[in-house]
Amino acid sequence: MQTNTKRPEIKTPPPGPKAKALIERDHAVTSPSYIKEYPLVVDHGEGSFVYDVDGNSYLDFMAGIAVTSTGHAHPHVVKSIQDAAAKFLHICGTDFYYESMVTLCEKLAKTVAPYMGQTKVFLSNSGTEAVEGALKLARNHTKRTKIIAFNGAFHGRTMGAITLNASKYTQKSNFGPLLPDVYHAPYSNPFHCPCGVSKDKADTECTCASFLEKEFFTRHFQASEVAAIIVEPIQGEGGYIMPARKFLKDLRTICDQNGIVLIFDEIQSGIGRTGDMFAAETMGVAPDVILSAKGIASGMPIGAIIAKTSVMTWGRGTHGSTYGGNPVCCAAANATLDIIGDKLNHVKVVGSYFIDELKKLQKKHAVIADVRGVGLMIGCEFLQKDGKPAMDYVGKLEQLAFRKGLLLLSCGKSTIRFAPPLIITQDEIKVGLEILDQCLTELGNA
Ligand code: PLP
Repeated sequence: MQTNTKRPEIKTPPPGPKAKALIERDHAVTSPSYIKEYPLVVDHGEGSFVYDVDGNSYLDFMAGIAVTSTGHAHPHVVKSIQDAAAKFLHICGTDFYYESMVTLCEKLAKTVAPYMGQTKVFLSNSGTEAVEGALKLARNHTKRTKIIAFNGAFHGRTMGAITLNASKYTQKSNFGPLLPDVYHAPYSNPFHCPCGVSKDKADTECTCASFLEKEFFTRHFQASEVAAIIVEPIQGEGGYIMPARKFLKDLRTICDQNGIVLIFDEIQSGIGRTGDMFAAETMGVAPDVILSAKGIASGMPIGAIIAKTSVMTWGRGTHGSTYGGNPVCCAAANATLDIIGDKLNHVKVVGSYFIDELKKLQKKHAVIADVRGVGLMIGCEFLQKDGKPAMDYVGKLEQLAFRKGLLLLSCGKSTIRFAPPLIITQDEIKVGLEILDQCLTELGNA
C-alpha cells in the first residue's frame, strides 16, 4: 500500500539533457580521480529530497555521504550561515578569538563530558585534517611513534590518513612512501568475525583485540612503544560494520594498561547518526580522543579533535590552521548541533523502523545476507548464491534505484549504506524502501 507522503518524481530519465551537458563540461576539466557514482547533477535540495537540473526529484538515503545531517538547506542552518557571513568571513581562529568558535568548542566538550570528563577541542577544515591532527597529538603527547589501525579502515585522503586506511588499495597504492610505524590489525565483524566467534556470541566473546597482544606485542614491538590506537567505533567506508562491544572494551583496556591514546574516528558515526551524539556512547566505551566532521555542520567544511584535557598537552604553536574553525562553518555547526540535539530520539525510533523493514525485505530477497547497524547508520550486505560478495549486483542496484528516484551509496565490498538525513520521516523511509523493494524484485538474485 502506498503512503500519501511526497514521492520522488522522475520526469526526464536521468541524465536528462541539462545534466548531460554539464557532465560533458565536467569531464573535460575535472580531475579523473573523482569517482562520480551515478550521473546525479544537483540543482538544489530541501529536507530529504534532492532536485536535479532537469526537474527530477530524488529521495536521499545517503546525505552526501552521511553529511547533510539536518537535511538539505535546513532554514535554521542556512540563516545562521547567512548571518555569520554578513558579519565577517574570516579572522583566523588559531591567532584570534570569536564567539562562535568558543560556543562550538563548549558545546562539543559538554556533549562528551559525561563519559570523557574534561576535554579541549581543536577545529580543522575536514575529517582527514582532524585525523592528521590526532596523530600528531598522540605522538606529541606520548613521545612514542607507533600507531595501530585496523583492516577495512577509512580515515581520509591525506598522507597520514591514507597510511591508516585499509579498505581499498586504490587509495594508497603509488602514493608512497607512506607514514612509517603504522600497523594494521583485524577489525571485529560479527557477521564473519576474524576471530571465528559466532554472530550471536560476538558482543561478549569476540577475541579480535587479542591479536594486538598475540601478534604485535609478542613478535614485533612492545606496547609501550605505541602512541595511539585509532579505530572507527562503527566502520564506515569499510562496510558499515558494527564491531562487537567487547572488541572496543578490550581496546580500551589495552590502552589503559599501556598508556596508549585511544582515538575514535567518529567522522562518519558521530553527530547523532547512531541515535546518540557519538557512537562512543552507543557502544559504551569512552575513548581519549573523538574525531568529528561530516554531519557536524550539515555540509560546511569543518572537523574537530575533541581530546581529554590530560591528553591535549601540546604547546602553543605546535598545531594550527588558517581556516580551521572558520566563523561561517562554526555558525553552521552550532545550528546543526542545536537541531540534532533535539532529534536523537527520532533517530532511534525511525532507525529501528528502518532496520525492521530491511529485515522483512531480507526474508523476501535472498540476496540480502546481512542487515546491521544502529540509528540511521545501517548497512545491508549483499552476497551471491555462492556466498561471494555481490559487487556487480550492488553497482546495478545503485544505478537502478537512482533511475527510480532513490539515492543510494555502497561501501565495503558489497554493502549498501543507509545514511539518510537525520530528519527523515518514517513515511519517507517507507517510500524509499518501497522503491528498494521494486529494484530488488527487478534485479532478482545475484
Ligand atoms: N574518517 C572517516 C571515518 C570517514 O568516513 C571519512 C570520510 O568519509 C574521513 C575520515 C575523511 O573525512 P574528509 O573526507 O572530511 O576528509
